[in-house]
Amino acid sequence: MIQAREGLHFIVRGRPWKIEKIGKDGMVYVSPVSDPNALIPGWDGEMMPVPFGLAQRVGRIRKDIDSRLEKYGVPKTVEHFEKAWPINKTGAKRLVEEHANHRKTGAPVPTDDRIVVEAFDRFLIVHASFGEVVNVTLGDLIEELLARKHLVRFWWTDPYRILYELVADTRELDVEGLVDDLLRIDDETLEGGLKALLENHLPLGYYMKGIAERFGAIRRGLTVGEGDLRSFEIRFANTPIYDEAVREALLLHADFTRVREIVQKIRSGAIEVVIHRSDETPTPLAYPILRRYVEAPELFSPEAEREEILDRMRLHLSSEPVHLLCFECGHFHEEVRIGEMPDHPECAKCKSRLLTVLGWAAWTVRDAYSKRVRKLDLKDEERKLLTRSKQVADLVAVYGKRAVYANSVYGVGPTTASKILAKMQDTEKEFLNDLFEAKLKYVTTRPYWNEPQAKPKLY
Ligand SMILES: [Zn+2]
Repeated sequence: MIQAREGLHFIVRGRPWKIEKIGKDGMVYVSPVSDPNALIPGWDGEMMPVPFGLAQRVGRIRKDIDSRLEKYGVPKTVEHFEKAWPINKTGAKRLVEEHANHRKTGAPVPTDDRIVVEAFDRFLIVHASFGEVVNVTLGDLIEELLARKHLVRFWWTDPYRILYELVADTRELDVEGLVDDLLRIDDETLEGGLKALLENHLPLGYYMKGIAERFGAIRRGLTVGEGDLRSFEIRFANTPIYDEAVREALLLHADFTRVREIVQKIRSGAIEVVIHRSDETPTPLAYPILRRYVEAPELFSPEAEREEILDRMRLHLSSEPVHLLCFECGHFHEEVRIGEMPDHPECAKCKSRLLTVLGWAAWTVRDAYSKRVRKLDLKDEERKLLTRSKQVADLVAVYGKRAVYANSVYGVGPTTASKILAKMQDTEKEFLNDLFEAKLKYVTTRPYWNEPQAKPKLY
């Protein structure tokens, strides 16, 4: 998240603008610029969620497409929807073909009353047409149950799917038995799981920000980093802000009632649960969520072009903010975009080039650094973070901006980074290609139980 300020480039109405002046009355004066790296503006609060009713309707439409494909084949189904709906032929064709391709894999089509659980590689994709809030709640419940088996690494949702990255390959798991344990559950497991969500899972700090603003406890529109967001839970404990966050979380961000209904319907058979195993590639209906959330969807997309991937990687890396900490004077540079850095970034305060690159652990490292300066005792974890950060700073001092790029790539630690940087590639493309290879190598060979890393992972 970036706060609006004079000089910032952003995108509105499909073109980039520069903020020239922000008036005292709140009026923002802009002029058009050409900047491919301009940001799409964020806003406080959330995107309008896809509600349960709409997602169910999509499920019913999928059912309709599925049965028409079964009876009449692709051309006739396209023709039907082109007439039945206000869409053109291309639109109807794309929609119908997506489902036809899905059917070709042998996978059942997920509908309003059919959940498809797809097992692919180390992923479990639950195709569930229940909308954003219900999927987050149901997904969270399943995650809780998976976590009790120590099986889950990460999970994500969208209005139509829940995606889990497991610690084991699904080919080595009894997926049928697992799905029974996750979805065909008794009331005791259900209520116990929901209780755990309420007490341990809901990101209350996140909800607290908006409420604290309304209460006037913090300034409106403040940009809050992830670290500070977490501290809200402690800051506002035992206050009405905390209570209100719990109330709002249950009202707007979780739907326990619908999840109870769904579990009952699965038990009674009113909702069917089907398992599908995907071998080489995921189903077309699973691909959107994998592409969005998984670190290297390139691995699964056979048609992917390397050139295009490298281009996307460069754009993504150069427009994302990182934090820099000066190892000479301790000055902390918050949210600097790599694309805007000079070839050899310097500390704004002391001009040193000994800068380390930090992501979500930035504040922990900053605090550890200042503890060390004050000669206070450091925890093992803090000492490790500092050593690692110093290695990165050494690389930035020598190689400049390229070292910042390297250290922002997923799976590239200081050791790998120094090997790649030492090659002194002639072109940016060769350099990015080496980084990309390193990332792929990491993703495909790392042990599944690897700990999350305390460094920025932008790409
Ligand atoms: Zn400095």
